[in-house]
Amino acid sequence: MSDECIFCSIVAGDIPARTVYESDEVLAFLDANPLAPGHTLVIPKTHAARIGDLDAAPTSALFDAVAELAPRVQEAVDADAANVGINDGEAAGQEVPHVHAHVIPRFEGDGGAP
Ligand code: ADP
Repeated sequence: MSDECIFCSIVAGDIPARTVYESDEVLAFLDANPLAPGHTLVIPKTHAARIGDLDAAPTSALFDAVAELAPRVQEAVDADAANVGINDGEAAGQEVPHVHAHVIPRFEGDGGAP
């Protein structure tokens, strides 16, 4: 837990989020600025800025949750596909320094990758 981390504050319940899935190790919630309907973020509850900083157990839990949630998110919004990815580091576009996977539903003809 990092006091200044917005995603840790969501995990702690200090900042509201629209939770779609929760386990002991992982939380998934809707992105506040969605790139598509159903845009979901999946995060480890443990704080780590970069994917390489995470221990093995939360890393596995994160990827297991992403694999389980990606098809369910698509189904929920009737999407044809999804972009699933992690921006790992500032130069890659990471703005919130707490590891998070994006699940971004995609629709036929929606105009290409974000
Ligand atoms: P980028 O903004 O370039 O996608 P990141 O990969 O770090 O950078 O993604 C951070 C994501 O977190 C953004 O999609 C942003 O909309 C989302 N976000 C920021 N604050 C909140 C919040 N309080 N609740 C839900 N989503 C949030």
